[in-house]
Amino acid sequence: MVTAIGQVAVRVSEPRDAVGEEQPAVSGVYRNKAAVDGLPETYSECATLYELFNKSVELYPTNRCLGWRPIAEDGTPGDYEFLTYQETQDKATQLAAALSKAGFKPKDKFGIYSSNNVEWMLAIRAMDKLSGTIVPIYDSLGESAVEYIVGHSEMCMTMVDTANLPKFSHTADAIAKYVKHVIYIGKGDDAAVKKISDAGIKVSKFYDFLATGSGEELQATPPKPDDICCIMYTSGTTGTPKGVMATHKNYVSGVCGARTMLAQAGIAFTGTDCMLSFLPLAHSFDRILEELALCVGGHIGYWRGNVKLLMEDVAALRPTLFIAVPRIIERVEDGVRAKLKKASKVSQLLFSAAYNYKLFLLKSGVPFGVAGALVDGVVFGKVKQALGGRVRFIVSGGAPLAPHVEDFCNVCMAPLLQGYGLTETTAASFIMLPTPKMAYTVGPPLAATEFRLESVPELKYDAHGSPPKGEVCIRGPMVFAGYYKDPEKTKGEFDSDGFFHTGDIGLLNDQGCLKIVDRKKNIFKLAQGEYIAVEFLEQQYSSSEQVEQIWVYGSSLESSLVAVVVPKKAFTDKYSDLNSEEAKKAMLTELSATNKAKKLKGFEAIRGVHLESEQFSIENDLMTPSMKLKRPQLQKHYQKEIDEMYKKVKAASAARG
Ligand code: AMP
Repeated sequence: MVTAIGQVAVRVSEPRDAVGEEQPAVSGVYRNKAAVDGLPETYSECATLYELFNKSVELYPTNRCLGWRPIAEDGTPGDYEFLTYQETQDKATQLAAALSKAGFKPKDKFGIYSSNNVEWMLAIRAMDKLSGTIVPIYDSLGESAVEYIVGHSEMCMTMVDTANLPKFSHTADAIAKYVKHVIYIGKGDDAAVKKISDAGIKVSKFYDFLATGSGEELQATPPKPDDICCIMYTSGTTGTPKGVMATHKNYVSGVCGARTMLAQAGIAFTGTDCMLSFLPLAHSFDRILEELALCVGGHIGYWRGNVKLLMEDVAALRPTLFIAVPRIIERVEDGVRAKLKKASKVSQLLFSAAYNYKLFLLKSGVPFGVAGALVDGVVFGKVKQALGGRVRFIVSGGAPLAPHVEDFCNVCMAPLLQGYGLTETTAASFIMLPTPKMAYTVGPPLAATEFRLESVPELKYDAHGSPPKGEVCIRGPMVFAGYYKDPEKTKGEFDSDGFFHTGDIGLLNDQGCLKIVDRKKNIFKLAQGEYIAVEFLEQQYSSSEQVEQIWVYGSSLESSLVAVVVPKKAFTDKYSDLNSEEAKKAMLTELSATNKAKKLKGFEAIRGVHLESEQFSIENDLMTPSMKLKRPQLQKHYQKEIDEMYKKVKAASAARG
């Protein structure tokens, strides 16, 4: 039963009017009421991740901890096998001893260029013991980004998985002045290994390297709360990556704050919980959830690193917590809806009646178990089985979640929690719990989060309005220590009261929950003076039945919007030429229907489309690793099509007179 008593934002200080031109008006400071009423921020005596994991080993030495699927000679994957907490601790100590013997010193930087696996987590735990700093490199990044991150962070050792080894080897000559030792995971690649050694870098195989720490006495150098445990390079949608420095204090505050809030709400994660690790550990959202699973004695099963095999890994692990970004949940929903379309009319009617019935009960506050009692097994059983059949909660984060997807999770799969935060706020700043009063919001702040909204007068967001709206500004122990080697940029993101400016526009509703409604930076004026919030519009248009992905474009030099759309497969299959006038017209009609259905304004209509068969992805550099559109790259890539579209839009408007 989710109680969520006292989990609302309450104002703890008075609002302030604008001060001159420089300082816009701000709402008062808000905090979590339960915390104001005396709920401890973290319930933890631990101040670092090092202490937190040691505590778990002490409490749950024989619990399963980190799991992997052994692969037979012929490539067949076996069932998950696990290291216990004690075994994980022993291996991490051995790895730390090996690293120390190889010359790794406290505060040195250790790079990881790999998809998630057991070795990744062992390296995190080894770094804790040596006061080292992990520098993750998204395994999807290309050579130039790798060179930049290696050089900027000055990492001295890098752990690389077999899949990334060839790519990494191409940077060997350029990075040899920083990286002295490369440790590779898996069977390796002879040519890549040779290339790296030829550049004068020592190369070792992970388990051979680990063996060098066997029998060595480790002199641990425990970190202090303000030591940097991780520098996460957020690739950003513009410019060069920024190195977000996260301290042990940041992580402990986020992890223990979330644990406390969940426990207080009656939905504690515990030692029997199990999560599948497949979202990049290089991103704070996955990292914080893995740390949370470990701090309650739960276990983590690592995927095989292949998105095509993801659902097989889900079926083999049968997780109790399904951690995902909205895009993945949307895909599951699309899959279910596509199957449903092929089912008999009777099945469709049954599904839709059961869906509406359960949704109605949930919205009326009926507990999940009761609301689903009649329909879960018979109607939604198969959908639940798709996630292994044991999922207790789905956790979404990292990007906005459409209301229909939220409903879909709650009705067909499992109660949905949503986290809101940034890499800069160590992911966890707000958590939405599965209760009707928090629906379609990102919930109240965590116990240690202080936040306020700052007016954005030019966009008519008023922090003194009802409800208050404005840029979300966050202060508290989860806020990062600054951008690495960039004090100027760091200074620019904080105001004089120490609040970090997120760039997100939030609305505080009358239930004391925050709703993210916009991004400040993705707003521009059209030529006729109307403001356009592209991200918001993309979210609205994405709900169109035929739209898989959409990028909306406009500028202050134009008076209308155009878009590049990746249609759903059913649409693509219908047209032999995706950019025939007929196909484009069909898509424009669809978008126009969505514009009406969503009650958007006339100037928010899409006047021209280009249809694209290839998805925007990290591989084609049109998406960031955290699945955000890279606008400048999209513009560069589609400039010709944009020009064409505007030419046509103008010609049509001239013809209409
Ligand atoms: P990153 O630093 O890559 O994690 O990106 C952080 C950004 O993702 C935030 O500034 C938001 O714009 C967006 N974001 C993260 N979580 C949510 C959420 N639950 N709802 C809406 N936007 C989110």
